[in-house]
Amino acid sequence: MAQATTEGAGRRKPALTDLSVGGFALLADMPGARSFTPGQVRRWVLQRGARDFDAMTDLGKGLRTALSEHWSVRGGTLLRRHESIDGTVGLVTRLHDGEIIESVVIPEAERRTLCLSSQVGCAVGCVFCASGIGGMVRNLSAGEIVEQVLTARDESGDEPITNFVFMGSGEPTHNLSAVVSAIETMNSPDGLGIGARRITVSTVGHPASVRRLAQVPIPFNLALSVHAPTDAAREQLMPGLGRSDLGETLKAARDRFDASGRRITVEAVVLDGVNDRDEDGHAFADLLTGLPVMVNLIPWNPVDDLDLRAPRAERVEALRSILQQSGVEVTVRRPRGQDVGVACGQLRRRALDPSDEEEEQRR
Ligand code: SAH
Ligand code: SF4
Repeated sequence: MAQATTEGAGRRKPALTDLSVGGFALLADMPGARSFTPGQVRRWVLQRGARDFDAMTDLGKGLRTALSEHWSVRGGTLLRRHESIDGTVGLVTRLHDGEIIESVVIPEAERRTLCLSSQVGCAVGCVFCASGIGGMVRNLSAGEIVEQVLTARDESGDEPITNFVFMGSGEPTHNLSAVVSAIETMNSPDGLGIGARRITVSTVGHPASVRRLAQVPIPFNLALSVHAPTDAAREQLMPGLGRSDLGETLKAARDRFDASGRRITVEAVVLDGVNDRDEDGHAFADLLTGLPVMVNLIPWNPVDDLDLRAPRAERVEALRSILQQSGVEVTVRRPRGQDVGVACGQLRRRALDPSDEEEEQRR
């Protein structure tokens, strides 16, 4: 396990990234601050990507010293960067307490997507997912989520990231207040200025959580991890979900669509022999026909130590075709980053594996 950062033996300094856009106002009370100081610092942190106070060259030296005595700019440090031959980049970050998280940048023809984590680990423990294997460790703070965006921007050079999806480790609705605060900072013109349409929250979709997400007045996209067409099958695949109620979940999603006009993405990880038979395809079609959804079939990305098999390509194609023939819009996700294991949750496991550390050092 990585060691905690050394921000003095005593109290840890809070990170500026944890302030809301409006929260930077409290910096007006720092010795040497002027009325415009909060805005200046906010722009340095969120828009110009400063990583330390020395970079903030238009702030007086005294003010920079005072700020650095009370605050750190960011709480985490980029530990490792894995680049796949297909251009997918995995970013492994060490948090202030030594915990490790991952985010992934996925380049495609027309866009670059950043996959964000919302928790260290995950309590849902889906049988196919690496993130849930060690259980839930802790929630990320809003700043730890925002920093994933800042770090990915640092690492992306001239290629801007266009899309932001909460599909890394963690269940966003189990850490809703931090996720919503981070989205506010991401979306605000005084923050990162990212359009709501470029942000997607993926959730296991408890009806009550979908309703709470629908109340957030930012029209980000919603993705529901459905995976199987029946409640019983979902409960088996997603053991920490509790009781599945697909009917209510889809109703809550439909209500959000009626209010926002944003179509819902339905995700289904496809597993060989589990949910890839024709009858599964027909059951999915019966469930979803007529709803304002777009189905994303995700061929399972193999995870070490899990006794499951990726689906055969022709089975994925059969499901796609059954859904399409029923009038349901459907896409198949191409696997990315497999050579460096950047599927959901895999990087963090690799980063925690000491044999991987040795392997890194030999390179
Ligand atoms: N907890 C949320 C968001 C993070 S997971 C959720 O489950 O929706 C984001 C997506 O990645 C989910 O649809 C999940 O099922 C999928 N996923 C997880 N592990 C995967 C794997 N090994 N291969 C392919 N998709 C995976
Ligand atoms: Fe958690 Fe999502 Fe992984 Fe399931 S798929 S264990 S909900 S992160």
